[in-house]
Amino acid sequence: MIRHPSTLRGRLTLWYTGILTAMFALLALTSVILLDRGLRNNVDDSLNTVGRAIADSVRRPSFFGPDIEDSLQSMFGPELAQRFFQLLDPFGRPDPRVAPPGRSRLPLSAVALRNAEKGEATLETVRLPPGSNKSFRLLTLPAMRNGATRNIVPVAMALENVEYARSSLLFTLLMLAPVALAVSALGGWFLARRALAPVDTMVEAARRIEAENLAKRIPAPTSEDELARLAAVLNDMLERLERSFVAARQFSADAAHELRTPLTILKGEMEVALRSAQAPVEIRKTLVSCLEEVDRLNGLVEDLLLMASMESNALSMPPKPVNLAEVLEDAAPALSELASRAGNYSKVAPAPPVWVEGYDSLLFRLVFNLAENAIKYTPRGGRIEVTLEQQNGSAVLQVKDNGPGIAAEAQERIFDRFYRVDPAREGSGCGLGLALVRSIVQLHKGEIRLSSTLGAGSCFRVTLPLAPAAASA
Ligand code: ADP
Repeated sequence: MIRHPSTLRGRLTLWYTGILTAMFALLALTSVILLDRGLRNNVDDSLNTVGRAIADSVRRPSFFGPDIEDSLQSMFGPELAQRFFQLLDPFGRPDPRVAPPGRSRLPLSAVALRNAEKGEATLETVRLPPGSNKSFRLLTLPAMRNGATRNIVPVAMALENVEYARSSLLFTLLMLAPVALAVSALGGWFLARRALAPVDTMVEAARRIEAENLAKRIPAPTSEDELARLAAVLNDMLERLERSFVAARQFSADAAHELRTPLTILKGEMEVALRSAQAPVEIRKTLVSCLEEVDRLNGLVEDLLLMASMESNALSMPPKPVNLAEVLEDAAPALSELASRAGNYSKVAPAPPVWVEGYDSLLFRLVFNLAENAIKYTPRGGRIEVTLEQQNGSAVLQVKDNGPGIAAEAQERIFDRFYRVDPAREGSGCGLGLALVRSIVQLHKGEIRLSSTLGAGSCFRVTLPLAPAAASA
């Protein structure tokens, strides 16, 4: 089964080569046929000229003199006279005057004899001697005198030269065919590559555009062709996408901002109410639980605002060198407290200083969110380990647990905002933790990878570029 090439370039080359092959084959066939026909016509013309000259001579009575053999030889040369010409009587028998016994005979077909009786010439292709592979053209002419056929003159000429010329041409064409095909395939490949080079550039540029950097555009080819139009259309689409992304981001920032004040007021009023001695115990219980919810909402609003300011690069301070090992050290006590409350063991491995450029409060959130998740989702008795090392010019932070793991289909969506694997079972979170982690990683120009096996645990691996001074040290 023929497999279609998967690239447009491959398909264009295949078409190009296919069409050129078909044209080459047609051209070859036509030239072989035309050459064959032309050469055969030449042979027939020569036969006609020779045959008519003989028939004319035979008509003269003086032709059959005593030295007839000599005159034939002087007329047509020994070759023709001996082998390719004969004189027959009207019934097709050798004329005894010019046919010494033992001379080889040219064949006379029934059709040729019949035609000769009627005074008509016949042209045939025969094999001589019969059964061999040597083809001859045979002209059988009647020599007429006074309206009656007096003699029959068969004249033959070898087709050897015609066949040789035809097979040489065919051989040359067959030898040339693979070379021509290879050259045309290479040419096709080269042309397709040149024509499609702007597509590759556009693909590369489009690949670099992500939701977070929609401000980038696809470079439009300088020509005014279809590809330039495609680039323009794609860029228009990106423009619209960017506008709607910015609007959506702005909306969530605005909404979070609007929620901030009423939540603060709500929290303040609840705390005042709780402090009042008159509130009955039932109401107090409800107020405490409401306060917890308000705190959760406050946290959510703060996360949303933080994320919005990171995504629009609107952080108030410039980045500065941060020692990640110190960040881990700072997070360790809170994490071990959380872990012991959850009945887990958490270990933050001590590490030598690793300097990255960024924001210490955000990097703290990054470590904390990842480790908090690991502690939260690992059943009691689990083990959580946070490690930091320097590898190939990058800081590598890993948060490992031996918890339930994350299913492959969930792994793709886990960093989306508000995505939770099982909202019914999972408690307090709201699905923003990992989205925030990803935003922090992107802000620090790093990468985050998750490897997880269901039932065996998860490992979040964050790679961050080192601070320039640390990297060159
Ligand atoms: P949440 O605030 O609900 O924890 P996250 O964005 O932090 O939201 O996490 C999204 C989902 O990823 C969680 O609902 C949880 O199912 C899953 N998850 C995150 N970390 C782990 C982990 N270490 N082990 C298992 N599941 C995890």
